Parts: sequence; C-alpha cells; structure tokens
Amino acid sequence: MNDRDLARAVDASIPTAEALFQDLREQTKDVLGVTRASYGEGEQKAHALMAEAARRLDLGVTRDAAGNLYMTLKGRRTDGHGIIIGSHLDSVPQGGNYDGAAGVVAGLAAIAALQRAKITPASDITVMGTRGEESAWFPTLHIGSRAALGLLPAKELDTIRRADSGRTLADHMAEAGCDVEALRAGRHVLDAGKVKAYFELHIEQGPVLEHEGFPIGVVTGIRGNVRALEAVCRGDYGHGGAVPRKLRHDAVLAMAEYAHRLEGEWEDIEAAGGDMVFTIGKFYTDAKAHAHSKISGEVRFTVDSRSHTKAILDRMERVYRERAQEIGEKRGVRFDLGRITRVKPAVMDSGLRARLWDAVKTYAIPAIDIPSGAGHDAGDFANAGVPTAMIFIRNPHGSHNPDEDMAIDDFAKGVQVLARTLATME
Ligand SMILES: [Zn+2]
Repeated sequence: MNDRDLARAVDASIPTAEALFQDLREQTKDVLGVTRASYGEGEQKAHALMAEAARRLDLGVTRDAAGNLYMTLKGRRTDGHGIIIGSHLDSVPQGGNYDGAAGVVAGLAAIAALQRAKITPASDITVMGTRGEESAWFPTLHIGSRAALGLLPAKELDTIRRADSGRTLADHMAEAGCDVEALRAGRHVLDAGKVKAYFELHIEQGPVLEHEGFPIGVVTGIRGNVRALEAVCRGDYGHGGAVPRKLRHDAVLAMAEYAHRLEGEWEDIEAAGGDMVFTIGKFYTDAKAHAHSKISGEVRFTVDSRSHTKAILDRMERVYRERAQEIGEKRGVRFDLGRITRVKPAVMDSGLRARLWDAVKTYAIPAIDIPSGAGHDAGDFANAGVPTAMIFIRNPHGSHNPDEDMAIDDFAKGVQVLARTLATME
C-alpha cells in the first residue's frame, strides 16, 4: 500500500461524503437543526439513505432484527471474523447533522477510498448504522447496539414507552419493520468474539479540540453513567396561603434540597480529584395541576452522573437513594426513583489506539489523546469485549444542538486516519 495514493483516494471520496451529509440534512431537517427520532421517521430516512449510498459502492447490505444496518466490503479472508465501523443514525430533537451520522458516512468514505486505491482488506469491513443510540424519545440507552450484541433484555421491549406517543418500544420497532419476535427470543446477529475491532468516528461533543486547536483526537476511554430517567417526588398539593410550613409536604422544596445535596456530593468528589459530571436535565411540576398559588404535590425529574471510575458511579447510585430516603422522611414526601440504569465506563484498546496514532503520524495530522465525556455505541462494544477505538472530530459549537458543526477538512483527516488503519489491519 502506498500512503500517498491512499491519501489521494480519501480526498477523492470526500465530495460524495459531503453530498451525503447534505442529502441527510435536507431529508431530516426540522424548524431548527435536524430531527431523527429513534425508530421514527427521521431515523428511517437516514437508514434508507445510507443503504442506498452503500449499494452504489457495491457493498452487501443487510439489517438485523433491531433494524441496525450492515454494509459490508468483503475482505480476503472468509473466516467470518470482521471489522466494524459504526455509529448511530438517530439524533436528539432539533439536533445537529453530524452527531452519529459522521461515523457512518466516514465508514462509507473510508471504504470508497480503499476501493479507489484498489486495496482489498484482509478481513471483511462492515459499516454499521445503529438504531436508537440517542434514544431521546425512550427512557433507555443504545437500543440498537445492545440488541445487536444480544444485550437488550426482552422486557424492555414492552415496558419502555416513547415519551411523545406513549407507545411501547416493541410497537415502534414493529412499525419500523423490525422483527420484534426474534428480539423477544433473544436472537442477535453479532458474536462479539468474531468482531476483531470496532471503530467509531464521532464529532466531539465538548469544546476541547476546538479550544486546544486540534482537528482530531484519539479517544482514551468513555465515561460510564448511572441515571434515573423516570424519577418523581410526590408530596401533597395544598393552598399556598393557608397551609403553615410545618404542615406542608412540598415536592418542589424537597427537590430543591435533593438537587443541592447531590451537587454537594459532586463537589466533594471533585475536591478529592475524582472524575465526574452531574446533571438534572428534567425538573418539572405537572402543568395540568400546578398553579402559582398552590403548593406543589409532584415534581418529575432525571438524574445523570457520569464518570470514568466505576466506584464513583457506585457511590452516586447509593447517594441517589440515601438522600431520597433522608429528605423524604424529613419533609414528608415520597421519592420514587424508578428504574436506575447503569452503563460501565469503557476503556479503549491500546493496540488499536496505537494503530490510529500510527496513521495520525504518517499523515502528520495535529492530534491529541482525549477522553470521551459522552456515551457512545463504542462503549457497548468495548464492554462486550470487542477491541474498540474512537476518533473525535473538532466541533466548535458542542453537540445536541442545531449549531453543532464540523469542517469537512477536519472530517477528511479523520477518514484518512480510519482508511489507513483499515488498510493496514491484518
Ligand atoms: Zn452520538
């Protein structure tokens, strides 16, 4: 393989990638940004568009029971072991065009470059478009990648409901053409032992690369998280003028204390040098029942702690429960935290990271090592035992918002690193 020829082949594949991004934006745009609801219209369109692009490259195109998309370039070997380049094709409501999609388009662009440079890889290379990673409409996580790996418990299909429609995950999956019965029976297509490597290119979701002035980063690890996404604090509604303080069971003031105490725990962890971020993303009274003159009897909320350290996630789960218990007793309110979900922190494979760095150096691309604060499908693969690595692309405006952005030149550098790594993998 000639490094310069491959670089030229990557350059030649970028205009097609750019056009694909444009089509994707056009087909899934919202009032602001793009909306690709998990197992909804936008995600369906994105999957159809990528499948079409893969067929133009003569790739084998298949789907699994959960609707994940697999687009495969055959390698020289036929031992059933292969490499996956994956990312998701759903978005948050009114999100950016590149979060998720950049990884799938990068995979297709890297394959197009290999084909153009007449390189047949040693093993099959599959670009995987996953489903429901953002899962902004469902109170769960990474639906597609977990289903592909056989890690989606069947009960989630019927107990998880989409926030806007109230219908179950199974309902929405069936509507999107998935084989729900196969999922119920625990059938899945990926054998983690046969995936030699999983790569994911993703826009950075924070400001680090932009701030430090690097177009790409090689990810060192992914924070895990512990969350309660359907939590509620219930007290008693009462007259805002007539009930004295000692007789109140005020859900809002109880929640204010709860939030404050959890922030205090975060401060303690940070002061001790621990890695953590903590967010209460939802915190609301019932619009049908609340009034300015009424003591609030109910607050619904979410809690989300993320860390590279499992012990810190354990501690926060304990603290969620203990503070709820204490404040509940003290203020005469009842906390129901609902289901608490856990994602383990994921370590990136040192061998694959070294390969990415090798490519970075070959093309003299400015890059840094960088941890991932956000979760990714890559974390599920890493925790399933698949050697995993990630490339981040600079993003000047953060993600999960319509201003998210990515320079196509930065993207091209990421594809270069990916293509060279794939070309040199045995
Ligand atoms: Zn993403």
